[in-house]
Amino acid sequence: MNIVKLNNGVEMPQLGFGVWQVPDAEATTAVAEALKAGYRSIDTAAAYGNEGGTGEAIARSGVDRDEVFVTTKLWNSDHGHDATLRAFDESVKKLGLDVLDLYLIHWPMPARDLYVETWKAFVQLQKEGRVRAIGVSNFQPAHLRRLIDETGVVPAVNQIELHPYLQQAELREFHAKHGIRTEAWSPLGQGGELLADPVVTEIAARHSRSAAQVVLRWHLQLGNVVIPKSVTPSRIRENIAVFDFELSDEEMAALSTVDRGGRMGPNPDDFN
Ligand code: NAD
Repeated sequence: MNIVKLNNGVEMPQLGFGVWQVPDAEATTAVAEALKAGYRSIDTAAAYGNEGGTGEAIARSGVDRDEVFVTTKLWNSDHGHDATLRAFDESVKKLGLDVLDLYLIHWPMPARDLYVETWKAFVQLQKEGRVRAIGVSNFQPAHLRRLIDETGVVPAVNQIELHPYLQQAELREFHAKHGIRTEAWSPLGQGGELLADPVVTEIAARHSRSAAQVVLRWHLQLGNVVIPKSVTPSRIRENIAVFDFELSDEEMAALSTVDRGGRMGPNPDDFN
């Protein structure tokens, strides 16, 4: 498993397991399956309603707590200083953890203009030792710039929609310049058209790999953190079996040509 170092020295597995849209009871089974397959990073959120099931799977797995990197996210209704501290308490309680590994602001919601205040509460939580690293999700360069200018604390991670159909060149460049790690959500493009794209399937056939494995490899070679989701055991295993082959420069270049700049999720600038 590849490990990346965040800007405060904390180490995070480059590939993890996402549990969006997995009901709480099913999350226990899926996360257990992922831990058995070798995943050591789990991405959940208060809004997913499955922090309980996720925590239960980790506790029951027999894997040492220190070996699992757990991310959760603050939901939109909990922006603001006091609400953030309360929401954090609730999340770690549901997860059954004393210390969280990574806490993210799920969306910036610029029209509400509370993300800087929220970020200050995140900084406090980190200072208190309750979370090892803090970051954001769905932040645009202007939002990141404000956090940095007004608090001096650079997010460790920005988790954004990112896949070969939405390559986010501008944001990735901004992240690289400021030491923010790019984490890709929906790294497989939610498993739809992208996995049947001829550019992807042709490269997959050449390596005798699946389309999903080729897309994940593309992310890893760009330096992105990825958190593919599946509840199917064979796919859970397939998605982590990506550390024993490599795409050539030509293949990486071919994949870069399929960018369409189209989102599947909401535009963070006007999502509230
Ligand atoms: P994804 O790109 O990981 O795709 C998942 C879907 O792809 C699965 O439901 C399945 O249909 C298919 N799939 C998975 N493995 C496959 C395989 N090997 N072969 C063929 N099909 C396969 O999409 P996602 O779940 O949207 O994103 C991953 C994770 O990112 C989420 O679970 C969540 O943790 C996170 N996320 C975060 C945000 C955010 O706002 N921060 C938003 C969406 C997702």
